[in-house]
Amino acid sequence: MKKVQSTCNYCALDCNLDFHVEDNRIIKVVPTKGYPVNDGFSCIKGLSLDKQQTTVTRSPLPKIKRKDGNYEYVSWDEGFKYVADKILELQDKYGKESVAGISTGQLTMEEFALFGHVMRNFLKTNVDGNTRLCMSTAVVAHKQSYGFDAPGYTLKDIELSDTIILIGSNPVVAHPILWERILKNKNKKLVVIDPRRSETAQNADYWYGLKEKTDLTLLYAVANLLIEKDYIDKEYIEKNTEGFEEFKVFVKDYTLERAAKITELSEEQILELVELIHQGERVSLWWTMGVNQGYEAVRTAQAIINIALMTGNIGREGTGANSITGQCNAMGSRTYSNTAVMYGGGDFDNPDRRKRIAEVLGVEDSVLATKPTATYNKIIEGINAGEIKGLWILCTNPRHSWTNNETFARAIEKLELFVVQDIYDDTESAEHATVFFPAVSGIKKEGTYINMERRISAMRPCLEKSEDEKNDYEIIYGVGKALGMGPLLDKWKTPRDCFELMKECSRGMPCDMTGVTWEGLENSNGVQWPFREGEVLESDERRLYEDGKFFTPSKKAKFIFEEVRENPLPTTKEFPYVLNTGRGTVGQWHTQSRTKEVQFIEDVSIKKAYIYMNTKLAKENKIKENDSIRVYSINGENAIFFVKVTDNVRYDELYAPIHYIECNKLTPSLYDPYSKEPSYKATPIYFEKI
Ligand code: SF4
Repeated sequence: MKKVQSTCNYCALDCNLDFHVEDNRIIKVVPTKGYPVNDGFSCIKGLSLDKQQTTVTRSPLPKIKRKDGNYEYVSWDEGFKYVADKILELQDKYGKESVAGISTGQLTMEEFALFGHVMRNFLKTNVDGNTRLCMSTAVVAHKQSYGFDAPGYTLKDIELSDTIILIGSNPVVAHPILWERILKNKNKKLVVIDPRRSETAQNADYWYGLKEKTDLTLLYAVANLLIEKDYIDKEYIEKNTEGFEEFKVFVKDYTLERAAKITELSEEQILELVELIHQGERVSLWWTMGVNQGYEAVRTAQAIINIALMTGNIGREGTGANSITGQCNAMGSRTYSNTAVMYGGGDFDNPDRRKRIAEVLGVEDSVLATKPTATYNKIIEGINAGEIKGLWILCTNPRHSWTNNETFARAIEKLELFVVQDIYDDTESAEHATVFFPAVSGIKKEGTYINMERRISAMRPCLEKSEDEKNDYEIIYGVGKALGMGPLLDKWKTPRDCFELMKECSRGMPCDMTGVTWEGLENSNGVQWPFREGEVLESDERRLYEDGKFFTPSKKAKFIFEEVRENPLPTTKEFPYVLNTGRGTVGQWHTQSRTKEVQFIEDVSIKKAYIYMNTKLAKENKIKENDSIRVYSINGENAIFFVKVTDNVRYDELYAPIHYIECNKLTPSLYDPYSKEPSYKATPIYFEKI
């Protein structure tokens, strides 16, 4: 029996697991002992990764939808040629940007780097990632505040913190191993800020159940009170930050009274929160989708960063303003997908970066993409406007997960070419593909992942592929060849070649990983970037900003702030309630595409869309547990849910898990202006009993 250590490719913790393999079958999966992230533990999803070895019964060959509406299986070469010819035909007829791609935080770094090369460099068109739906807010916040998208923490910080403040974050359900590490910390006070009394809030020492979308007001008021009470670290502010004096004047208007009125927290609660921050020696603030997915999300994330900066809670053990990432390789895609920034970071109009990347890739500068990609929302809008005619999606299911998802259903109808590349051909998106490329799952792939704390780890194949099976890298490469990329692919033949290119692209950048080797990653504890060539790794847990130096030109972190915006979609007389959304259970994968084949998760998962309603509201409307209601959204759509009655949601808030397609049927086409991340969390609705 052989043992293969590889990375769990579900959530952004990137736990490592030992796969025990005999005769090309996984016999058991054991969480890797001693691995710094999960040290011998994992959640049910990681333990179930072996289920993806047996249940795929369809053909390993691509299929093309013919004129009569039926699919025909074809050889890989025919599939590649069909897609390449069609892309070139569309570009010829309608222009370069008439085809687009949507990739994902699920792929390996090498796969989306190659996809970015084919689509952005060669085809001169747009590719965005579904990471836009979860992490783009944190990316923009980091870039503006720190000068680079560089989350500074190490996961150990959550164990070293004496005051942990979770904002819009529910690790009990969304990041179980992070929760396990919080539990390990016996000396902490746990504070949760969330409108909903989530599973995490139920286990917290302090829960602040504020009104939805009032977090920015609360955070500015907290900053103001910290200043008024002189609870700030003047030396740190003076030495390592800029813009504080302006910030101080700005937050003066965010008084305790104003914050209490808007957030619907009591003045005592807000003062208590301020004291908790002040009394903590090592305060860490952590945020997830409750912050990222809002219409003023970037400024909210930065308001969290501002509090860490002004209290000196950054760059020290147990501190930080820490973004908890969603997908397993969101961090990798942020820096290596050639979408919003060049490979390894840097803007597309930066001549020095262009020169360097062109040198590494061995191409003329003119080959490189010249601007950041059109964002996800612009791609969908472009399809619906008839400007984009071809779409290639990888490992993602926008018919389900895209906000206001009927707009994606309409988009599909308009496409002349809709290529879906996935391990499943029965997702809500794949069912409509004009071409389907079946890719093998992670247990048959090799490549590199980067987790939320910048830890680079290896994915290595546990099982061998059959002759006809292809992995995502080979599929992208095959289309690239059929497109006629010729010598432009010479340096990209294997994932390992690509890894070496990306390493070189990172040289001298904050995410420098030139000290990491392909072999060195195997059976290792992973390595957090930066890790430069020649460096010696002194610890498995390294944090950034310990020297107080950031990546801005002045090396100082910036206080960034802006007046709280009026809610663009407030509740009205007609739509008096708010729909909040999020994860429902630990076991279920977002759109359930992957976990529906895990029998013991399926056995305990609810099959129909459900929604939580406050006990008092239910009583007033004569609604009982398991009654059905039709929910009408301000976006013009409606959907049926059955009701679960609870005291854990506010009176005027209903909460629907994202695992059912009905949920994002109701969310609006509303985005943060800077990150273009959708506002999934507060949609005005009304309902009627049916
Ligand atoms: S916590 Fe995340 S990375 Fe770890 S096993 Fe579960 S899904 Fe995988």
